[in-house]
Amino acid sequence: MGFLDRLFPNLGKSRARGKSGYTRAEGPHGLWFYVQCDRCGEKIAVRLRTTSEVQKREGPDADLGPGQYFVRKTIVGSQCYQRIEATVDFDSKYNLVDADIKHGKLITQKEYEQRDEY
Ligand SMILES: [Zn+2]
Repeated sequence: MGFLDRLFPNLGKSRARGKSGYTRAEGPHGLWFYVQCDRCGEKIAVRLRTTSEVQKREGPDADLGPGQYFVRKTIVGSQCYQRIEATVDFDSKYNLVDADIKHGKLITQKEYEQRDEY
């Protein structure tokens, strides 16, 4: 780690750009993102509290993802018992930067709101 990295550990991350359309803010501390279950195709809206569930990427977590903040969450929908393991990275304004979703995939708010077409 260089001198600047130690001084500003998140300096290199400030350029990680948030993707639009994947989150919706609700009030000062609420944040929604959306996933789709791999097994049954259910679209699930997930609400986060930025004050308690979202963690800062620092210490041993700092290099494990591109965001300044992240959340790790297990999501279970209502149509099947598949456990969807989500790790989602956010920038300093809680825009979604990257997501790793096991047993599911990340979808946009628009995709979530589109009714199933099959
Ligand atoms: Zn499912």
